[in-house]
Amino acid sequence: MSTLIAPGATLGVLGSGQLGRMFAMAARRMGYRVHVYSPDADSPTGQVADREVVGAYEDLARVRAFARNCAAVTIEFENIPASTLEAVAEVCPVRPGSYSLSVTQHRLREREFLVAGGFPVVPFAIVRSIEDLKIAVATLGTPAVLKTAGFGYDGKGQRLVRDAAEAEADWASLDRAECVYERFIDFAQEISVIAIRGVDSSVVTYAPFANRHANHILDVTTWPAQLAPALLRQAQDLSREIAVSLDHVGVLSIELFVTNDGKLLVNELAPRPHNSGHVTIEAAHVSQYEQQVRALCGLPPGSTAVRQPGAMANLLGDRWAGGEPRWYAALASGPVALHLYGKAMARSGRKMGHLTATAPTSAEAGEIVVRAREALTPPSL
Ligand code: AMP
Repeated sequence: MSTLIAPGATLGVLGSGQLGRMFAMAARRMGYRVHVYSPDADSPTGQVADREVVGAYEDLARVRAFARNCAAVTIEFENIPASTLEAVAEVCPVRPGSYSLSVTQHRLREREFLVAGGFPVVPFAIVRSIEDLKIAVATLGTPAVLKTAGFGYDGKGQRLVRDAAEAEADWASLDRAECVYERFIDFAQEISVIAIRGVDSSVVTYAPFANRHANHILDVTTWPAQLAPALLRQAQDLSREIAVSLDHVGVLSIELFVTNDGKLLVNELAPRPHNSGHVTIEAAHVSQYEQQVRALCGLPPGSTAVRQPGAMANLLGDRWAGGEPRWYAALASGPVALHLYGKAMARSGRKMGHLTATAPTSAEAGEIVVRAREALTPPSL
């Protein structure tokens, strides 16, 4: 059995956004100290950490020096070079490891990993040349989605190809980067599953989350998702198997489409907590962030049971377009909790915070949280 990292120790996190912030808050509640490393100062994570180190991920000497002050290190963001994780691993345990990171940070490697493991994926083709693109359009048809192979999230680096005649221009608008061309799925539902695999290889999963997107960005999550029991089990079993074949240690997020004929297709993996899982802070016995701390430290996984059904609504920077949102009205409108990430600039599309609600059913929680969010902005906006 690996050594337990007891409370009081210092945990490191690479990446400094809101996921790191909530990891740090969970870790500090459990008595750990937290150091964060990223290129940004006064970051969402840095604001709540014991120490914020600003440096490039490629500065391996600085990364190693950071790791020397940590008992173990995790990530909150997948677009970190695998070599950075390997540098940390020379100094202290890093979870997840560089294999899981390198597969999940690159769409093409991820697809190849899923296909090799026999996991169901959206039909796709690789596009590296104009000839590849022509073959992809001819075999998979339109509409389709073109996605860059590396460094994409929240719909960044994606184009909807409506028509074969537009495919070349769409690819050109992605700088003719290496891409995945995939069939557009007219899905019945989008869900995510969050799995936690410990250092002892045990895996637990939360029940699936139901996700609604707007402009390719998660908008509202309700939990637990309303799914037929067989599908619910299948989604969790699939996610468990993926976590095992990735040899992942820590929190792994699996995004899935439920097709109209009741089948599951894996859309994307993320080697970290997920936006949909924010709702576990209020709605589960143990949040995804505490699970991340536990897995990192060799502690047993916590209960993934539903404490009360819940819902989460993201707050994007657009909500600030008409001035300061009406916090009083939103918080007076129902049983909601407010989370803001400490970001100074409210840019359009930027995730600034979220609201959560709990209720006797997830559908009711969804209605409450959306109503509260509507109260934030005057009706004219
Ligand atoms: P992704 O960055 O791959 O997670 O895509 C962001 C969102 O775009 C997804 O959550 C879906 O709502 C939508 N999307 C992505 N790929 C497809 C597809 N092949 N068919 C339909 N919708 C898609």
